[in-house]
Amino acid sequence: MSFDIQQVRADFPILSQAIYKRPLIYFDNAATTQKPLQVINAISDYYLHDNCNIHRGVHYLSVKATEAFEEARKEVREFINAPSTHEVIFTKGASESLNLVAASFGKKFLKEGDEVITTIMEHHSNFVPWQIICGEKGAVLRVANILPNGELDQEHLYSLITDRTKIIALTHVSNVLGTINPIKDIIAFAHGKGIPVVVDGAQGVSHIKVDVTDLDCDFYCFSGHKMYGPMGIGVLYGKEKWLEELPPYQSGGEMVKDVTIEKTTYNELPFKFEAGTPNVEGVMGLRAAVQYLKNLGMEEIHAYEDKLLKHAVERLSAIRDMRFFGTALLKASLVSFLIGDIHPFDAGTIIDKMGIAVRTGHHCAQPLIDHFGIPGTVRASFAFYNTIEEIDKLTDAVSRVKTMFS
Ligand code: PMP
Repeated sequence: MSFDIQQVRADFPILSQAIYKRPLIYFDNAATTQKPLQVINAISDYYLHDNCNIHRGVHYLSVKATEAFEEARKEVREFINAPSTHEVIFTKGASESLNLVAASFGKKFLKEGDEVITTIMEHHSNFVPWQIICGEKGAVLRVANILPNGELDQEHLYSLITDRTKIIALTHVSNVLGTINPIKDIIAFAHGKGIPVVVDGAQGVSHIKVDVTDLDCDFYCFSGHKMYGPMGIGVLYGKEKWLEELPPYQSGGEMVKDVTIEKTTYNELPFKFEAGTPNVEGVMGLRAAVQYLKNLGMEEIHAYEDKLLKHAVERLSAIRDMRFFGTALLKASLVSFLIGDIHPFDAGTIIDKMGIAVRTGHHCAQPLIDHFGIPGTVRASFAFYNTIEEIDKLTDAVSRVKTMFS
């Protein structure tokens, strides 16, 4: 391992507290990750020294804040290897990025009888916006299945493609199953049929080195808060040719070039999609998060998290009656499970009292949970600041739950 875990943990002061008189073990990283001091300091430095509205002032502070904001855009561009900074749009999160694509793409390109393909493993944020726009336009939403191990049924997805398919919306990594989808292959196949692909990367960017040029995706959406940055900031990457064609999602200041009583012309990219005063503090924090991840190295992060995952699977599998949801060959570092028939809320509540934060419920992926016919799962999702010892404590806690209910 090329990073020092104790040094890394020292960067995250929240992790060193005790809850219920036990050291906090934080395994709810798929919901949101904790923030290193570097991110917290970037936000407070911005307010201590540089706070100003951007893009419209000629004075010192406004120019400084604008330069920092646009520097951050360059760093995000480099982080995902987007061809141009024009293609990096700041939003308030993955949900807003996905809503933007669904609403603007749908408005321009969907008509009655057209089809949109998504998958059963999507988070509501990449499902409901498509359901809504399809409903408005009289288009049909087609849903690809999964295989029993939680991998996407690629053959089924391909069989849904018709000459009415206008776009495919799928997740890079499932927030419930951990499955890493072969999006590069799917994008190549879809492009062979002239169909664009929007990728929900909310669970992708924090675990995998993402290269949108290599993937050749048309859109890639993610949130700052799931990659050690602040809440309320996110990114939409979109190919310039699409972003030029899509109508604006919101309107107001900043996104306009010229406004007269008769008509408005729109600003150039990326500003056409950034109406109003942006979340500048969020962008400062996101920039620090990107720098933090770059310093650790995405390959190193992936390798370390994979070790955590393998250890968790090995230890938890040794407990009788464990039921796992999502055992794909290519998986990000999370485990979703039930302990026999014990309700996930009961299990989660008891595990919490042992100082361990896990998530329980449908994880905003109700169609998937319904597909399994279960009330939800317990989900433990790991980050690079977690340790093998913490996973051993989770195993002990799960065993304890089992004993209490038997
Ligand atoms: N997609 C996936 C796969 C997610 O896990 C989440 C967050 N749980 C989202 C989209 C939505 O992200 P946000 O709430 O940050 O907009």
